[in-house]
Amino acid sequence: YPPDRIRNFSIIAHIDHGKSTLADRLLETTGVISKTGKNRQVLDKLKVERERGITVKAQSASMFYEHDGQKYLMNLIDTPGHVDFSYEVSRSLAACQGTILLVDAAQGIQAQTVANFFLAFGEGLEVIPILNKVDLPTAEPERAALQIESAFEIPTNNILHISAKTGLGIDMVLPSVIEKIPPPTGSADSPFKALLFDTWYDKYVGVVCLIAVKDGAIKRGDKIVSSYSGTKYEVAEVGIMHPEQKPTTQLQVGQVGYIACNMKTVAEAHVGDTFYKDKHPVEPLPGFEPAKSMVFAGIFPIDAGEFDRLNESIQKLTLNDSSVSVHKETSAALGQGWRLGFLGTLHMDVFRQRLEEEYDANILMTSPTVPYQIKYKDGITKFIRTPSEFPNAIVMQERVESTMEPFVSSTLIFPEQYLGSMLELCSTHRGDIQTHTYLDESRVMLKCKLPMAEIVTDFYDRLKSKSQGFASFDYEEAGYARSDLVKLEVLLNGEPVDALAAVMHKSSIATAGRDIAKRLKDVIRRQLFDISIQTTSNGKVIARETVKQLRKDVTAKCYGGDARRKMKLLDKQKEGKKRMKKIGRVELPQEAFLSVMTKS
Ligand code: GDP
Ligand code: MG
Repeated sequence: YPPDRIRNFSIIAHIDHGKSTLADRLLETTGVISKTGKNRQVLDKLKVERERGITVKAQSASMFYEHDGQKYLMNLIDTPGHVDFSYEVSRSLAACQGTILLVDAAQGIQAQTVANFFLAFGEGLEVIPILNKVDLPTAEPERAALQIESAFEIPTNNILHISAKTGLGIDMVLPSVIEKIPPPTGSADSPFKALLFDTWYDKYVGVVCLIAVKDGAIKRGDKIVSSYSGTKYEVAEVGIMHPEQKPTTQLQVGQVGYIACNMKTVAEAHVGDTFYKDKHPVEPLPGFEPAKSMVFAGIFPIDAGEFDRLNESIQKLTLNDSSVSVHKETSAALGQGWRLGFLGTLHMDVFRQRLEEEYDANILMTSPTVPYQIKYKDGITKFIRTPSEFPNAIVMQERVESTMEPFVSSTLIFPEQYLGSMLELCSTHRGDIQTHTYLDESRVMLKCKLPMAEIVTDFYDRLKSKSQGFASFDYEEAGYARSDLVKLEVLLNGEPVDALAAVMHKSSIATAGRDIAKRLKDVIRRQLFDISIQTTSNGKVIARETVKQLRKDVTAKCYGGDARRKMKLLDKQKEGKKRMKKIGRVELPQEAFLSVMTKS
């Protein structure tokens, strides 16, 4: 396939607008998968994706398609829609020349439609808007088309109306991709040059690298070099995703495919790297900006003996998700572990689930926190990823000039009738409203600057409930600004527990102090002694609660004579299933560590 017969494209959209379903239909039309009449979202390969019904990993698939008597090689990349995974989207776009912007004709433009459009537009990609779900009785394709014109200034006179579910209009999609999206540039005669844009670990061939070949060609046995590390590799396998790994004899200019080259450790695969052939160095491609972690959380093995195994699992999983940052962390309460940085709380949650399901890990996770900055009087600025790094009261007084927290620029889109409650929501979350404009006569787009910490807690849930699910939300980072921060500590039986501490804005401390103490009281089980819970800040007690000791006579009544033995047995059985950690004499369940962030 010469480059003019290749098309590399992706599908971008707001979550649930039908990307994965459209990918299914296209794979069926081209015979990559058989027609079953079911919506299988075959590219959602991970268990977590199937369970949650969302895409978290971009996946690619190659298809062969005949158009006007010519054969084409089409490479499709399905991308996630949720804001937490936009790093996946931007990486995928670097391997494409164009993209389909899919919009649900009933819902119209949503916040991630806007965010994803600007990602693609910024990359200089050709964008083909397509309206999906026109089979729905509530579909208003004309209205959605007007919104597209007004928000993105793309003419929509020939816009396709499709239903990825029923198959209506699907025949027109690939011809439109061939006509509107330019073929990849590059030359077959130039030295081999390829962008590494995704990696994963395969049981059989080890580290797999997904590459976009920018110039030249590559085959098995070739010797290649990583621009990033200078390391030389021999190519053991090349192939395309069809939709699983399928070996081919070579990969040519313009193609997207995978290579396996016996990388010894997962750390060697560096997303954004440029490969070239040994003795034929090339100018490296610009690569990607590293993802900026917005949320940090500690991960610890429940059983310290599993540290090494967990270390290896985390490494393998981060190979498949290069946007996670990893640092070692030691906690007085929880021992050796890691501090991981994520792009958002859904990202964090998905990572935890993948660690547990794909790697069978038995872990404890601490409450997420945003990264804070401390500016010292001597001019030094320090990043804080964990509350235990927060300066104590004396240092704060004598050496700290100011504390800073991260902000985001957010976009909210919703029907006009929610304007009042959305404005209120932003102001109760310390937001700073910037503009509001109308996308059409009844849809509002609101721009607001918010502290990232508010988003980590309950902003999103409140947004959904206050708008009955009709508001959508997206954000991008907007730097640090001064903020009055304080540390909240939690004492169990008089002993501070570092893993339960939190840093927050001064205005939240009184409420949070009371809420956290109450919530801990609810989740800590009674034991054979009283457990006192205190929350403090700067040495002052904010709230106290007590978990009363288990009274023997009460259990005797409930369980009959051998209650103690029975309870012990029951407890033992539960312990196998429940994640518990002993802090001093007190047993804490996993929920206790997360109680700092779930606002009531
Ligand atoms: P994604 O998040 O953009 O990948 O969206 P999915 O492909 O997972 O689809 C989300 C939901 O919308 C699923 O329940 C699909 O069955 C449904 N869906 C997708 N396309 C259509 C369509 O054309 N019509 C209707 N009625 N439902 C659709
Ligand atoms: Mg999807």
